[in-house]
Amino acid sequence: MIYKPTTVREAVALRAEHPDDTVYLAGGTDDLRLGSEAAGKDLIDINGLVSDKIEEKDGKLVIGALCTLQDLVDSPLVPAFLKDAAKFCASFEKRNAATVGGNLALRRDDSYLAAAMCAAEATLLLATAEGEKERPVAEFLKCGCTPVIEAVILDPARTGWVKRFGNTAASHAALIAAQSGGVCALTVHGSGLAVGSSPDIWETLEYQDDLTGGADYKKYLAKIVFEQGR
Ligand SMILES: Cc1cc2nc3c(=O)[nH]c(=O)nc-3n(C[C@H](O)[C@H](O)[C@H](O)COP(=O)(O)OP(=O)(O)OC[C@H]3O[C@@H](n4cnc5c(N)ncnc54)[C@H](O)[C@@H]3O)c2cc1C
Repeated sequence: MIYKPTTVREAVALRAEHPDDTVYLAGGTDDLRLGSEAAGKDLIDINGLVSDKIEEKDGKLVIGALCTLQDLVDSPLVPAFLKDAAKFCASFEKRNAATVGGNLALRRDDSYLAAAMCAAEATLLLATAEGEKERPVAEFLKCGCTPVIEAVILDPARTGWVKRFGNTAASHAALIAAQSGGVCALTVHGSGLAVGSSPDIWETLEYQDDLTGGADYKKYLAKIVFEQGR
């Protein structure tokens, strides 16, 4: 079943009412794929309820959650290293449908955007049952909460870099590291997210052997990536 709420508030209320049986529907690239965790669940369509625009407001860059990864690449307003992160999604077809909100909401440890957004100290405008809240991306990624992400907000002048290590452009990333304005952020497959002001953040994670590579390999990459930098 697909719910068609007419306001974001209604969408959040539906999700709260059926926490185990619903997911939000944005671009649908994950919800509608075979083997998705959304399989068998009802969809709450948020298309039309949340912005799909990228604009500057009061000196901040506001990226509507329904913007696609390709919208980031195409926008003249988006910092270069965030475009690089969006381009980690190698398939144009997927990049053109997958939304920024959907990518962050999945809280994947090989997320295209998570490390770069955390390094950029981006915040999320969230619609919750208690009203609108703004929270750092890193805080959202570590909680299990299910608000609607309405927008990503960051400093448009931010510069930095992001690097991805994976067997191929289309396979799961072993590791994605980013740095901006003195903030380091790291996502490691099987290990999660680390964010901090020191390049030593790699020490806080526990590394796993898995299909993306051995634990020692990933630990080595995580250690040297901030030393090598750009
Ligand atoms: C073959 C394949 C390979 C992939 N590989 C990678 C990869 O290596 N790295 C990576 O990062 N991603 C990967 N993805 C995932 C892809 O990035 C996501 O499918 C996409 O970003 C999700 O965006 P969407 O708009 O399509 O979300 P949807 O499929 O519409 O939704 C996905 C989930 O996000 C939630 N959601 C969506 N929008 C919001 C919102 N605004 N607020 C709150 N929750 C929301 C929904 O509840 C839903 O559970 C892959 C996907 C596929 C199909």
